[in-house]
Amino acid sequence: MVGRINPNVASLTPYKPGKPVGELTRELGLTDIVKLASNENPRGPGEQVQRAVRDASRALSRYPDGNGYALKQALALELGVDSSQITLGNGSNDCLELAARMAIAAESEAVIAEHAFVVYTLAVTACGGTLIRVPALKFGADLDAMRTAVSERTAMVFLANPNNPTGTWVGEDALVRFLDALPEHVWMVLDEAYFEYVEADDYPDGIRLLERYPNLIVTRTFSKIYGLAALRVGYAVSSPYVAELLNRARQPFNVNALALAAAEAALQDSAYVEQSRRLNASGMAQVTQGLAAMGLAFIPSLGNFLSFAVPEPAAALDVYNALLREGVIVRPIAEYGLPGHLRVTIGLPEENARFLEALGRVLS
Ligand SMILES: *Cc1c(COP(=O)(O)O)cnc(C)c1O
Repeated sequence: MVGRINPNVASLTPYKPGKPVGELTRELGLTDIVKLASNENPRGPGEQVQRAVRDASRALSRYPDGNGYALKQALALELGVDSSQITLGNGSNDCLELAARMAIAAESEAVIAEHAFVVYTLAVTACGGTLIRVPALKFGADLDAMRTAVSERTAMVFLANPNNPTGTWVGEDALVRFLDALPEHVWMVLDEAYFEYVEADDYPDGIRLLERYPNLIVTRTFSKIYGLAALRVGYAVSSPYVAELLNRARQPFNVNALALAAAEAALQDSAYVEQSRRLNASGMAQVTQGLAAMGLAFIPSLGNFLSFAVPEPAAALDVYNALLREGVIVRPIAEYGLPGHLRVTIGLPEENARFLEALGRVLS
């Protein structure tokens, strides 16, 4: 006998993370492994962050500051917003979920693009909402079609800019046109997890749009360029009104003390961010050139990752498994509607080289 199950939960498919290094070691006995599967920063954390974590670890018996006062102050200064606009999350995934819970109930619809980040689907489904998935245009979000898909029942639109796993992005003009046309009852969640990596002239800064669009919620994270994926800390920036609503659904101590301290230290280390951005730009050139030299097509990406097409689409999983045997972990993305592609994270130069060499062997 089992108890009754919430059908929204019963219908979920668990999130599939990139394969952890330890798991591959257990399965194949490999030790020299390169993980390019979860869009993590390949560099370790900076000195200041390590020191902050060590210092904070002395107070582990105490609950963290449930309001994250110091980190919010530091973020407010960095972002040019008021701290009342910030909601901290246990990773920005937490913020995405809080946003869904704020807006989505049974009978609500949420509009997303085909190939969108899978967490939107999980969050909306768990709240009993229905997803309206709008076909992509050249792998990217088709904003005109998404606008047409918005109806009286639409509660929220989710858009990652750039999107994971496609790396595709929307420019400022297109985004503003979309927001201008969005009915007032619809919330827009703009997921900028890779914001700090982006180098493109027409790339919009969601936070600068908040004043014009009170229905906008922007999320960012310390998991990517700041190199703190293990600690789980991200944030939403919105109107104070929305922040107050998100705060109602939030767990009292959703961001732990080590994460708060590390994030605050990471914000001060702008050199680390700049070096990471440059490392990624040169790694992206290395990987795209390597793939092109093998005659492989890829989707141009503004993030720290790249999705490429395997020559024999039906064999993508075989290529993935063969790369595992070479000690290289990438990410299959069939669950994103891209069964013939694999996604690789840009790593250190030697990791990128190892991936390219392994791929060359696997495909020959
Ligand atoms: C990695 C990623 C996030 C960040 O998740 P965290 O919970 O902050 O680690 C959010 N959105 C997208 C599109 C991502 O790829």
